[in-house]
Amino acid sequence: MKFARVIIDASMGRGQNLFDYKIPDDLEVSVGSRVSVPFGPRVIEGFVLDIVGSTELPNDKIKEVIKSLDDFPAIKTEAIKITPQICEKFKLRHIDILRMFIPSSLRGRVRKRKPKNKEIHGLDIKKKDISLTPAQDKVVKTICSAKGEVFVLHGVTGSGKTEVYMNVIERELAQGRTAIMLVPEIGLTPQMLGNFRARFGDKVAIIHSGLTVGERYDEWYRLFTGEAKIAIGARSAIFAPLDNIGVIVIDEEHDTSYFSESNPRFHTHEVAKIRCKFWGANLVLGSATPSVETFYRAQSGIYKLLTLDKRVCCDVDGNCAKMPTVEVVDMAEELRAGNNGIFSNVFLARLEQTLVQKKQAIVFLNRRGFSSYIMCRGCGWVARCEHCDVSMVFHKDDKMLKCHYCDSRFTAPSVCQGCKGTQLKFGATGTQKVVEELQEKFPNTKVFRMDADTIKNKDDLLSLLGEFTKTPSSILVGTQMLAKGHHFPDVTLVGIVDADNSLHFSDFRATERTFSIMTQVAGRCGREKDVGHVVLQTHMPNHYVYRLAANYDYLRFYDKEVNMRAVTKYPPFTMIVRVLVTGERDDKIKDALKTIMAELRTRQKDFFYLGAMKSPLGRIDDKFRYQILCRFDVQNETEMLSFIDDVVSRNKPKNLSVFLEINPQSLS
Ligand code: ADP
Ligand code: ZN
Ligand code: ZN
Repeated sequence: MKFARVIIDASMGRGQNLFDYKIPDDLEVSVGSRVSVPFGPRVIEGFVLDIVGSTELPNDKIKEVIKSLDDFPAIKTEAIKITPQICEKFKLRHIDILRMFIPSSLRGRVRKRKPKNKEIHGLDIKKKDISLTPAQDKVVKTICSAKGEVFVLHGVTGSGKTEVYMNVIERELAQGRTAIMLVPEIGLTPQMLGNFRARFGDKVAIIHSGLTVGERYDEWYRLFTGEAKIAIGARSAIFAPLDNIGVIVIDEEHDTSYFSESNPRFHTHEVAKIRCKFWGANLVLGSATPSVETFYRAQSGIYKLLTLDKRVCCDVDGNCAKMPTVEVVDMAEELRAGNNGIFSNVFLARLEQTLVQKKQAIVFLNRRGFSSYIMCRGCGWVARCEHCDVSMVFHKDDKMLKCHYCDSRFTAPSVCQGCKGTQLKFGATGTQKVVEELQEKFPNTKVFRMDADTIKNKDDLLSLLGEFTKTPSSILVGTQMLAKGHHFPDVTLVGIVDADNSLHFSDFRATERTFSIMTQVAGRCGREKDVGHVVLQTHMPNHYVYRLAANYDYLRFYDKEVNMRAVTKYPPFTMIVRVLVTGERDDKIKDALKTIMAELRTRQKDFFYLGAMKSPLGRIDDKFRYQILCRFDVQNETEMLSFIDDVVSRNKPKNLSVFLEINPQSLS
């Protein structure tokens, strides 16, 4: 007789939820099969993790597997083996990680096969014949002659990192191995995809949020069977069902999108390390501005550091394209001189010159989240969402106020809802306003806009990039979206409207993020034969982050930052854990928080910081949110994490959700 050890999806704490079921003789079930089984009065879905010859369950308690849900075992051995390691690292439920290895169409629902979509979501690039520069060649050879190493590839913008990735992958494929190439969601540019398609054709499978459920399944299946050898995608592609992985690349490794902020909460780098260890593969973490945590490990010798310090494109004499010059402009000075507009006079003069020379410009708005609120100048009233405790965002197109968290919306009022006054101020400068102002100043110039409102999908992005690239003397206005990965040959000027925006966030990574985004944006210009120029507008012209970003001095910036972290006791020297408790009853959450805190306080001396508070976003979708923040020495990581996890799981009340977040990227 054979028994299947099945992990099922029932919320029973963080245990393994493993149950034995008898396999009927006429049923084909193997390790990794998705099956349906009886559970109490219900029939539910589970995965077979093991098949055994005997069980400790008494005969009259034993139930039978009802059926296999697919005609192949969807979970591979590697996934079964490494899931416990991933879950131990982030204190997650096994079932939640196992599910990441299969597409959503295989989770619970009946499968509907869609016709295969042949459309290629990438620019059509004629394959270029590129021979590596000596610097690139050295990097490629170093990576390919290693096994099971973690490399940090620190390369300035335009240093040809993508070409390095492609060459490393090509060599791994030639050895019969496979590869995963990760990019931030907004870094999944048509150029990047086009390059990979041109080089690797059908061997590439693309996994991104714009695919339909059917398309996702098709791409997943091609990887599962080995027909496709390279998985490209954002964070979730780290779970691609590939065997025999030779290399995993994480491009723009500092990007916050590599941290999952919804369940299951994991950090892509750590999952990548676990997969690499399983296959003996190399991990490549590439960036022009590696995160302080990553670079610290490179400096400590845990990771191997590789550097590309020059741009790759060169003129006929072989001189490399130069890094753009950066001019820091004091906006307070501009105001004193009588200019209270969005743009400094220096920038406007440069812009005019750029357009006359038939070149292009980028105007970047360093805007994170919601800032175009409505405020009454008379009484200070701000339109806020009734359900979420955040300000509503004003959308000029349809004159609506929208909540970006729960999507409730209403028509923007023309009088204040507090004092009935009519002097309403319509928020901070947004992309629309910048476009309007530029259009007024340069009526004959085409001004393009690139933000979450104008770009809804890959096709929008593709057509915008196409249009912009073929319109000389034009301007592209946008947010973070335009900072990543794009290669614009004719852009010679970049204007950064209000650089300080990200500096004022109450977050210990604020300076690091500002340095990084400045570097990325500056990196969009002067990538070929013309020298680029950047005008950076700020109210804090003497801040070291601008001085160092203007000189592309990452190393000095890193030194300053890492010393600060050591003194103030922040990562990488400490670990931060947030316990997030959410639910509908405010009083219940507070009670739970008190109980948990009382237990955590028994080890008060082991924490550098331990505090409980309402989350900055105190309510989302009618759910209250409270948090406990813990900070402790990273040396005690394993032990402290287990302690916190244990306290939390023992005191988790029913009807409340409790999440553990390790080194969270945002505390909203
Ligand atoms: P990064 O990712 O470091 O910002 P890219 O990989 O986008 O840089 O490279 C910048 C440009 O240089 C791209 O247009 C790329 O095709 C080109 N390039 C890269 N390597 C070479 C090379 N060895 N010879 C010529 N051009 C190259
Ligand atoms: Zn809301
Ligand atoms: Zn008012």
